[in-house]
Amino acid sequence: MVLFVAPSLPFVAPTFEGDLGAQGAVEESLRSAFTATAAQGAWPTGSWRIFIHPDAVSFETATGAPPGRSGQWVGDTLHLRPWDQLRRRDLGAVLRHELTHRRLTGKGLRRWVEEARCLWAEAHHRPPKAWPGLPPLPFQERLDRALAGGTTRDQVWAYRWLRAWLRRESLPEPPSRRVPEPDAWVKEAGTSADPVTVVWPAERLRGPLTVNGQPLSHQPGKTWRFQGRVRFSDTFLVRDLRGTVKIRAESQGWQVSWTIARPAWIAAATEGELGAEAPFESRRALAAVLDRWLEGHPNQHPGGTLCPLTHCAVVRGTASADTVRAVRRAPELDLDPRWAFFTGSAGGWSLSSREVWGEGPADPGGSVEVQGDRWLSWERTLSALQVAALKRDLKPGLIPGQRGLKLGDSGPYAMEDLRLAAGRHFGWTTWPSNACEGEWRTDGSLRLKGCGWGHNVGLCLATARFRATNGATAEQILTEAFPASWRTP
Ligand SMILES: [Zn+2]
Ligand SMILES: [Zn+2]
Repeated sequence: MVLFVAPSLPFVAPTFEGDLGAQGAVEESLRSAFTATAAQGAWPTGSWRIFIHPDAVSFETATGAPPGRSGQWVGDTLHLRPWDQLRRRDLGAVLRHELTHRRLTGKGLRRWVEEARCLWAEAHHRPPKAWPGLPPLPFQERLDRALAGGTTRDQVWAYRWLRAWLRRESLPEPPSRRVPEPDAWVKEAGTSADPVTVVWPAERLRGPLTVNGQPLSHQPGKTWRFQGRVRFSDTFLVRDLRGTVKIRAESQGWQVSWTIARPAWIAAATEGELGAEAPFESRRALAAVLDRWLEGHPNQHPGGTLCPLTHCAVVRGTASADTVRAVRRAPELDLDPRWAFFTGSAGGWSLSSREVWGEGPADPGGSVEVQGDRWLSWERTLSALQVAALKRDLKPGLIPGQRGLKLGDSGPYAMEDLRLAAGRHFGWTTWPSNACEGEWRTDGSLRLKGCGWGHNVGLCLATARFRATNGATAEQILTEAFPASWRTP
């Protein structure tokens, strides 16, 4: 008897055009996206092309695509944004999405159905066992119209609707016009098809570990699974967890993975970043931002997980009932997920996404100088040796609009690169924020004067606390923090 093994379909390489310097990096992601989407539909025969545009204007002229879109098919050519924009986005997800479009071409699917399947393919290797129920026909037509050529507002709504539909969450109402009362096809809220997993790395969790009163024996490789409530000893870095918890003994310590529904993560991160004692309205405001951030950054770490650190958002454990309530009552925020940022303190000197990363809105949001804020203003001196180490580590050069600093006669270097490199080399308080001015000295040292803590972009948590204490609502806080340009996709 001969066992027949289905051959895995070979990668059909495209022809590359445009910025060929980026071809290697794009091709690598392309190969894995090709394999990852194999179950979404057969790859059509025939040649195809990838055009990596040299700049955003050329991409937008060729495709008519809005700033939020990273790739767009025109016939057999997939047009991609310039590499310096792509590399800041989740290129894998972009390519899985676009390759799925090509796999679904000619299948006669409604526009919104095809779009939903492509969104699904961004994070899943195969279609679900069953798609959620279909909305009534007139509503489907409305979705198609919004996607095909609707206003920006319609499009934002349509994409939010599709993502909520895929997650079987409560569905956002279309803008302005009245819609038929949602009925049987609206799934009850809270049943999240896309849970969030937070992983504490083992090197951060050392020492003996007691779970629900029972000590665990530390044998590397051994794994425990818990469901429901997990209590740790008081001295452990992680607080109580409710949900699905996996603990693995590793040589350096304990790796803890916590899987929860999105709202539970938003609550945990809101409390981790602001504290359970922060005014209710400030927690509502941050919850709204975290909801948008999660939309744009679902796969920050290998395996689609999040870390419990500032990099993603600080998480210590299950949030209080009051913070869960703040999340449930968080305002709907029409914020582009790519710019859904918050910062510990801006010290009254907020920066725009463009100033820090060279991409996104160019106007900074608003923040206030909060008296008593320890990061209101700061001064630092970096020694000549420290400055030399930064120069060795970094490449000079700025993207238009980006803030930078010259170090002697070299540079300018991007401020954000300097801050992060200083943090990695010398500790995170060495270069507290991007809102600063530097004075280069002839002995090679650098004097810094600045405001704030973190990247200084988006919602300032010190401002949110202060404004909420003085009676502002979350809606007011968010309007002050995010100018209109941040809300267009
Ligand atoms: Zn699409
Ligand atoms: Zn992270």
